[in-house]
Amino acid sequence: KMNTDLGQHILKNPGVSLAIVEKANLKQSDTVLEVGPGTGNLTIKILERVKKVIAVEMDPRMAAELTKRVQGTPLEKKLEIILGDVIKLEKLPYFDVCISNTPYQISSPLVFKLLALNPPPRCAVLMFQREFAMRLVANPGDKLYTRLTVNAQMWAKCTHIMKVGRNNFNPPPQVESSVIRLEPKVPRPAIDYEEWDGLLRIAFVRRNKTISAGFKSSAVMAIIEKNYRTYCAQHGIALDDTPDNDVEMGDEDVEVEDEEEMEVDDDDGDYDTEKPRVVAKENRRRLKGKVGRLVTEKVRKVLEETELGEQRAGKLDEVDYLRLLNAFNKEGIHFS
Ligand code: SAM
Repeated sequence: KMNTDLGQHILKNPGVSLAIVEKANLKQSDTVLEVGPGTGNLTIKILERVKKVIAVEMDPRMAAELTKRVQGTPLEKKLEIILGDVIKLEKLPYFDVCISNTPYQISSPLVFKLLALNPPPRCAVLMFQREFAMRLVANPGDKLYTRLTVNAQMWAKCTHIMKVGRNNFNPPPQVESSVIRLEPKVPRPAIDYEEWDGLLRIAFVRRNKTISAGFKSSAVMAIIEKNYRTYCAQHGIALDDTPDNDVEMGDEDVEVEDEEEMEVDDDDGDYDTEKPRVVAKENRRRLKGKVGRLVTEKVRKVLEETELGEQRAGKLDEVDYLRLLNAFNKEGIHFS
């Protein structure tokens, strides 16, 4: 009996399994990581083509069934099973290619775990819910173009391989599926992930608004000021920290919007939960000071000089975001 809490939907169409394995362009010398082998429909086909398969399976009953399936065959020696939750594994063993009929609950964390690997795998061929898959391959301006999209496309080339209908699974899931191939970029872009994602979080609070709008939130500006103070301390830069008593809040260059701005429209909040949240009063006090005004001016300058400030967040691609991040960093502005 299947445990659908663990996303157990077995691929019953051998044609689909075969297509997935073929799209991975396997070499005989490869080591393959398979996430969630289940009863082994994909596993057997992979084992026949490569040197080694490392299969990570959370359900001991499934692992036992798979072990039994290869026992006494020439494939047995090539299979290593790791019993456990792939997301909780601190260090994944080395592998060249990842293949998975992914349990859909772990789609986001699995993608990010794979993209964070250094060195990255040559490619990953993964089955996802249709909508999640379409977000990975969306283009700027598309409805499904989100923070997840920009993140994935920063680190990998993402290709839609094929649609897979519900009835190819037992039991059929609620929704349609798609197979996606991720080919991590080589060399791996030398960007600090926290910093990069920090900028995207600000931009994608409202993806139909301009980049400048994201920087009008006092919560955002307070975090940027705090980071700037840390940056200056680390680099021995002295700051004039006298309160700026002549200036009242509401001056043209210290526009702030309500804190609620930080909470909405970020439909990628599902892949982790931390969001910047700072007490409003504290923010306003900070932004009144000389350092707050300096930081606000730096942000304004970057947005103007890059000519990206008036662009809509959902219309910029990963190259634009990288240019924006580099311009901010040059001014000592950081997002983590
Ligand atoms: N690969 C098989 C197939 O295609 O027929 C089964 C795929 S089924 C969609 C997902 C499998 O992943 C199940 O066997 C389930 O027990 C396992 N699983 C679920 N969550 C997991 C996790 N966090 N880590 C490792 N395996 C997991």
